[in-house]
Amino acid sequence: MTRVAFIGLGNMGGGMAANQAKAQRPVMAFDLSKAALEKAAGAGCSVAGSVAEAVKDAEVVITMLPAGPHVRQIYADEVLPNAPKSALLIDCSTIDVESARAVAAQAKAAGFRFADAPVSGGTAAAEAGTLAFMVGCDAADFPAVEEALKPMSRVTLRAGDHGAGQAAKICNNMVLGISMIGVCEALALAEKLGLDPVKFYEISSQSSGQCWSLTSYCPWPGPVPAAPSNRNYEGGFATAMMLKDLKLAQEAAAKSGAAAPLGAQAEGLYALFDRLGYGGKDFSAILNLFRGDLS
Ligand code: NAD
Repeated sequence: MTRVAFIGLGNMGGGMAANQAKAQRPVMAFDLSKAALEKAAGAGCSVAGSVAEAVKDAEVVITMLPAGPHVRQIYADEVLPNAPKSALLIDCSTIDVESARAVAAQAKAAGFRFADAPVSGGTAAAEAGTLAFMVGCDAADFPAVEEALKPMSRVTLRAGDHGAGQAAKICNNMVLGISMIGVCEALALAEKLGLDPVKFYEISSQSSGQCWSLTSYCPWPGPVPAAPSNRNYEGGFATAMMLKDLKLAQEAAAKSGAAAPLGAQAEGLYALFDRLGYGGKDFSAILNLFRGDLS
């Protein structure tokens, strides 16, 4: 069975590594956090003492790290010098397109196959093995990437060459951030107008206002039982994470000369919500900013 090295066992990586182990693949796992390592061991992974040790016999290396600088550092200092050249390297973190392309170029120059493969789906999907992967890689490498990601995925789509997975991810999350704010503004307005927000949900979800933020992730408690709005906006996709992705989108827009004014507004609103102390709450909690109820 494919030997997997898994680096970064946090909220997302923990569940993802567990699903590789569940698929009977031997997993060598590493994280800086002792608690994360213990959890991975409990899920059937072997625990390594360093990135170098984790990757040394790997056929597939998967990284799930916080941001671009972590990915650049770990690949340059630890993965590329220590993994076998035959290993397929897959970075699933959400990072800037430039860092993804720089790491891909370094990996290719060193003789490796590399893919950026950020995910959509959040922690519940990471645990359930139902993530959507958006992949940037050489076309010839895609079947191997798809196979490597299978125990963790509902769907895996190739976006294009290196960096295209990250480009798809930040564009998708810009749509998500903007649409969530639109849905929250409308729900707060409905309430002010004396319209039952649940009735508004019922009507808009069958009208032209229908979108994922409303019908799959409703920020108003009640209509969508699995949504974080029903558990005081705990878990789910943190405001700080949404802010990070909107920042990445704005940086990419500035560098490429694209106009993204609503993305900039969404970034500003999520930055404000984060500064007010709600960075750890699910991003749909921004509803309460528009309702004027941050109690
Ligand atoms: P997290 O902070 O929970 O996990 C990151 C892990 O990386 C931590 O356990 C940390 O100890 C580890 N780490 C950091 N530096 C390391 C190093 N040098 N060596 C080994 N381990 C190291 O973050 P997360 O929520 O799991 O997110 C990971 C990535 O997935 C991010 O890029 C995020 O944007 C993206 N993402 C998150 C979600 C979500 O809902 N949380 C959804 C989609 C994508």
